[in-house]
Amino acid sequence: MTNKRIPFNWPHMTGKELYYIAEAHFNGRLAGDGPFTKLCHNWLQERTGSSKALLTHSCTASLEMAALLLDIQPGDEIIMPSYTFVSTANAFVLRGGIPVFIDIREDTLNINERFIEPAITPRTRAIVPVHYAGIACEMDTIMSIAKNHNLKVVEDAAQGVMATYKGRALGSIGDLGAYSFHETKNVISGEGGALLINDHKLSLRAEIIREKGTNRSQFYRGEVDKYTWQEIGSSFLPGELIAAFLWAQFEEADKITQKRMVAWQRYHELLAPLESSGVIRRPVIPKECHHNAHMYYVILGPEIDRQKILDVLNRNDINAVFHYVPLHSSPAGLRYARAHGSLEITNKLSERLLRLPLWVDITESKQNKVIDVLKEAIYSATH
Ligand SMILES: *Cc1c(COP(=O)(O)O)cnc(C)c1O
Repeated sequence: MTNKRIPFNWPHMTGKELYYIAEAHFNGRLAGDGPFTKLCHNWLQERTGSSKALLTHSCTASLEMAALLLDIQPGDEIIMPSYTFVSTANAFVLRGGIPVFIDIREDTLNINERFIEPAITPRTRAIVPVHYAGIACEMDTIMSIAKNHNLKVVEDAAQGVMATYKGRALGSIGDLGAYSFHETKNVISGEGGALLINDHKLSLRAEIIREKGTNRSQFYRGEVDKYTWQEIGSSFLPGELIAAFLWAQFEEADKITQKRMVAWQRYHELLAPLESSGVIRRPVIPKECHHNAHMYYVILGPEIDRQKILDVLNRNDINAVFHYVPLHSSPAGLRYARAHGSLEITNKLSERLLRLPLWVDITESKQNKVIDVLKEAIYSATH
């Protein structure tokens, strides 16, 4: 990188992506579910312990598959945080479902498990915990609430690849889990995703929904002698070129995570004095959680004008950014969803959160510059 601007993200390439793409090209096998897709499926199943993993073209697609698999009907309610990406809600709204937004926890910014039960009605079908920044939601509590009320759990683990909760891979704990391999995530294929199917009773239908509603996968395995239209579905599978790229990333997934963790820890240590002086709060990692260094954010003190801090950082060629505009306050959120409870933590923290540049090979000097400018900006904002 020659430009002196410090970007927010810089996609990491392992060096083998084009080699594997060339191999797929040479094999003459370009449609989905070829050899590279199978390698990726096996890797995901081994690494997560999920009984079935299917590559999709995005986490958005995985969530849409989840809504189809759970047979979400018009008027069905799905409990989720408002502090999330639009796809978490869209996937269910596309089926006529109604997202019911509840507040997040002050420490992790994840769905507050204590507010789930009060939001349950006779129309509730599912809970969608979102593992923000690759830090797990309180899954034991969420799973036991789901069991008691006969609800399904879909983990939006878009940011959670390589992260765990009590030793279990995020995405492998609920009935279904959705991963993203978008360029801005840790392990990437440009656009890309996967659906983990942890309830094996859903496996066959997942294959059918992903293959345009046909049992083509069974046909290729020789289990049926022709394939036909079985139920509604769509095309959710990526081609082999994407899978070939992704395979190069999977091979290095441990290294990618370790390197990001070094940079994350460095920010964390450099920012300890600012937290002690009370002007910011750093991320909180519950002891059950091993995160994946997906994101480094700070929560600015209430007296600090975030826009001013962002302006100073950007004037100094540092691309720091804020994050989600809560869905309950968005035009589509007002039309298609409803909020349960006050969402005061969501409103408060979403306005004070600031994300710092972080990628695999970010240098110490760049990190130092980010912290120096951030400190100066906060100093002038509070004096
Ligand atoms: C990135 C992200 C998505 C969407 O992922 P795509 O692969 O881009 O569709 C969904 N949910 C969350 C929480 C995300 O961070």
